[in-house]
Amino acid sequence: MELRLYDTLSREKRVFAPIDPSNVRMYVCGPTVYDYAHIGNARPVIVFDVLFRLLRHIYGEGHVKYVRNITDVDDKINARAAERGIDIRELTEETYRNFKDDVAALGCLPPTVEPRATEHIEEMKTIIERLIAAGHAYVAEDNVLFNVPSMTDYGQLSKRPMDEMIAGARVEVAPYKKDAQDFVLWKPSKAGEPGWPSPGGIKTPGRPGWHIECSAMSWKHLGETFDVHGGGIDLVFPHHENEIAQSRCAFHQSVMANYWMHNGFLQVEGEKMSKSLGNFITIRDVLKDWPGEVVRFNMLKTHYRQPIDWTVKSLEESWKTLDDWYWIANDAAGEAISAPVLEALCDDLNTHQVITALHSLRNRIQGGEDALRGEFAGTLRALGFLRESAAAWAGRRQSGSGVDAAQVEGLIAARKAARLSKNFAESDRIRDELAAMGVVLKDSKEGTTWEIAR
Ligand SMILES: [Zn+2]
Repeated sequence: MELRLYDTLSREKRVFAPIDPSNVRMYVCGPTVYDYAHIGNARPVIVFDVLFRLLRHIYGEGHVKYVRNITDVDDKINARAAERGIDIRELTEETYRNFKDDVAALGCLPPTVEPRATEHIEEMKTIIERLIAAGHAYVAEDNVLFNVPSMTDYGQLSKRPMDEMIAGARVEVAPYKKDAQDFVLWKPSKAGEPGWPSPGGIKTPGRPGWHIECSAMSWKHLGETFDVHGGGIDLVFPHHENEIAQSRCAFHQSVMANYWMHNGFLQVEGEKMSKSLGNFITIRDVLKDWPGEVVRFNMLKTHYRQPIDWTVKSLEESWKTLDDWYWIANDAAGEAISAPVLEALCDDLNTHQVITALHSLRNRIQGGEDALRGEFAGTLRALGFLRESAAAWAGRRQSGSGVDAAQVEGLIAARKAARLSKNFAESDRIRDELAAMGVVLKDSKEGTTWEIAR
């Protein structure tokens, strides 16, 4: 089966052909670790986890290298550490641990490498020196800047009109820039900020700009060119555009990555998420109310390139579906991935279609094709679901409902006894009593299970 991925650079869905099938390489921009990640940050983490799992399935587990960086040097980090009166390293370590726990709860596999920016300063300086030597960068007032006009085909990824890019670049007015679009590769550190010996013959200590971090870490761990570079759509300009400029000009390559993948925006209950609107939700907040698998499922219902509207209603529906699927899978053993699901994944990670395919598989099992149960369960596991036993999953739902599970089990046993003695009036009465408690019964060949209606 051919894998096809949409490439933002060429604006088309193309057949995926890795440079080296025995070493498929992907890079995704990771978090800036100063505070809990928000639910919008969870989207690329989940989307590219699905891609990582799919590539491992196609090329073999040991043949895919996934690098997701940690930005641990940044203005926001410095400010937050000062605010909290703690050491920068303490803040970044604490935030990174929280992030790791959050994304593990979302069912995401750890990437192969999670490089930290502060551990790749030498690589950044090497790239900067190369850019200066090649005439693509210059020193001005202890900054090193990338000279955008020096790259004749700058701007291919975002294809933004030149005047728009200039206007964007002018947000940060700096009189020492040769061109308004020029961007920072290295800047001087202020007192109290982390600093390293500077490149370009600059005498004062400095620190890297954000864009150069990703060029350095992808180079170190994946080489001058690699297969997939991913991130949120908001990173296309300027971040990814500038990564491309730095890497291509430093290594004299025609491409940095062969496929540029970007996930769409996330909004909450129809509105842009922002601290001022009071609808800013962290992954940690969401995980207090919803199991990680529900959050993951809810994210994958929408195709990754479409915008997503994050709503409680949709989360409730996702939970209901997963309840049903846990019940249908019923802890069946199985590892194979269902063919229609694989086909949908290979069509530019069409997870929306994956879920449709799973629904029809579920209906066939319900219709009596019991042999499909293992395939259904195996497919869900391959996608990062069914991480608990069916009983543990059902118990989680019940414990959060305020319903006494022992009382429900007692009533179910009494109803069973009533039915065996053909006392249908009594069995119906018990069913109604349970319904009044919000308990929905599901009778099957295997017996009766129950759940809380939401
Ligand atoms: Zn990046």
